[in-house]
Amino acid sequence: MQTIKAAVCHEFGAPLVVEEVQLAAPDMGEVEVTLDAVAICHSDISYAEGAWGGQLPAVYGHEAAGVISAVGSGVSDFSAGDPVVVTLIRSCGTCPSCAGGKPTICETSYNGEGPLQTSDGKPLEQAMACGAFAEKVVVDQRQIVKIPHDLGKDVASLISCGVITGVGAVVNAAQLRPGQDVVVIGAGGVGLNAIQGARIAGARRIVAVDMSEDKLAIAKEFGATHGVLATQDQPWRASYKALGGRGADAVLITVGAIPAYEQAPRYLARGGKAIMIGMPHSGAKASYEPVMLAAVGQGLIGSKMGDVVIQRDIPWMIDLYQQGRLKLDELISGRWSLEQINEAIADTKTGSAKRNVILFNR
Ligand SMILES: [Zn+2]
Ligand SMILES: [Zn+2]
Repeated sequence: MQTIKAAVCHEFGAPLVVEEVQLAAPDMGEVEVTLDAVAICHSDISYAEGAWGGQLPAVYGHEAAGVISAVGSGVSDFSAGDPVVVTLIRSCGTCPSCAGGKPTICETSYNGEGPLQTSDGKPLEQAMACGAFAEKVVVDQRQIVKIPHDLGKDVASLISCGVITGVGAVVNAAQLRPGQDVVVIGAGGVGLNAIQGARIAGARRIVAVDMSEDKLAIAKEFGATHGVLATQDQPWRASYKALGGRGADAVLITVGAIPAYEQAPRYLARGGKAIMIGMPHSGAKASYEPVMLAAVGQGLIGSKMGDVVIQRDIPWMIDLYQQGRLKLDELISGRWSLEQINEAIADTKTGSAKRNVILFNR
């Protein structure tokens, strides 16, 4: 056990407390990563507010990048000094989902004791298999991917959740073909990545739908060809107009608000697919008219973490960034210290922020 600093949630809805905690050494197949950066995701905030339950006290944080500082037994592909991104995608590699190419929905459950304890030796939940609001993490080697030494850790941290979720949903879940039309509902962190994913995939037209004019303007910087204000009556009519009187081949729902889920099929062309990426709170329900979907061959598809295979997709996305085809620097709206994490979370909750990143000075 070693002592590190972490931001701990003791009570849902209360501010996180930056305090000393204990971290175990990496076990078999695990690595210890000393973090340089962790971005704040809306999922962290939803967890800290109690939207999805879970054990307390807990350490959230799952969009991280750093350098390997120790490896456990049986780790041969990584060694100390390797720069990596850390994801929450823990996969066994052999269950039917993993074997079928979808490790994001691995069927193996991991109920063992996590590596974290409070300073007085009580259980401390390593949320989302990461616990990255901390100076160091100990994670399974399948959760990490090596990155180039010269890649900034702040931009790298964004790749491990928001970028793979948005870009991955376009290429892996929607399987968008060049020339197709796309609607992206929500121009926040994930939405902007779905928009630039659609641009990279060769979409003909990309309609961004959001409640905020400011966010629609940002969406255009990321590749949206049209913006539609969600606050207007029947906003899908404005989308049809932008798409020459037709619905979209794919609509990606990147927000958690239920009306967005209920309206999504209205934006679709015949045969189109609605991809559900956002994470509404547990218990929230949406209603559909199944006959409408059946009559015109439309689909509703859920996508977790962009259905990515991190070892395949993250190196691709890093190349896109280094070639100037994927915007990452522009996704960062603020840089903060771990001690400022509650201010960074409050700023993210205002809805104006793209991604706030915590940087560890070491
Ligand atoms: Zn996330
Ligand atoms: Zn598996």
